[in-house]
Amino acid sequence: MAESPLAAVRARIGKAAALAGRPASAVTLIAVSKTQSAEAIAPLIAEGQRDFGENRVQEAEAKWPELRARHSDLRLHLIGQLQSNKAEQAVALFDAIHSVDRPSLVTALAKAMDKLGRRPDCFLQVNIGDEAQKGGCPVAALPALVEAARVLPVGGLMCIPPADTEAAPYFALLAKLARRHGLAGLSMGMSADYESAVMLGATHVRVGTALFGARGT
Ligand SMILES: *Cc1c(COP(=O)(O)O)cnc(C)c1O
Repeated sequence: MAESPLAAVRARIGKAAALAGRPASAVTLIAVSKTQSAEAIAPLIAEGQRDFGENRVQEAEAKWPELRARHSDLRLHLIGQLQSNKAEQAVALFDAIHSVDRPSLVTALAKAMDKLGRRPDCFLQVNIGDEAQKGGCPVAALPALVEAARVLPVGGLMCIPPADTEAAPYFALLAKLARRHGLAGLSMGMSADYESAVMLGATHVRVGTALFGARGT
């Protein structure tokens, strides 16, 4: 039988980690299932995949409760931009939130966590290329965001490097910023560049296309 896409991605993560002298267990593979149906997701769960990423609260609310009822050990990661007025829904549903990028959102999440008694792991998203259109905190504003976010369970930093350029320098910069702030988690690397991210210290890679094939529009 041909190797499955999941087995292939796992093997490549293992190789990249070994080259960097890191155990493969130090890297969490998040299968990015945005736009994918429950039917497309089920085979990955059957193969043992447990961490999944979604970029919209509403889409995740429609898709995941039923899958979770059948598999209580799934972990859901929010990887897309979050509006403050959806903070409570996000805290209720997700186990990790990778897109905390501004003090007003920190306040909304802290309030929702107190109310619901649930504390998903948080990553501070950095606009690592300082791109005008992109979500994430500007690099220069990160120290203030780290300070504001002390009320949250922050485990690390997250970035989406600029498209169509070499990602490695941006991964290296994110790793340096995380070290500077004493944060251990690094959510970086997607289908095109996850091996490079693992070699540069990623603890969480977010992979969609390489597992599910190209997304429809
Ligand atoms: C869609 C998405 C991914 C996955 O991208 P692929 O190129 O399909 O692997 C990763 N991270 C974020 C934030 C995304 O929105």
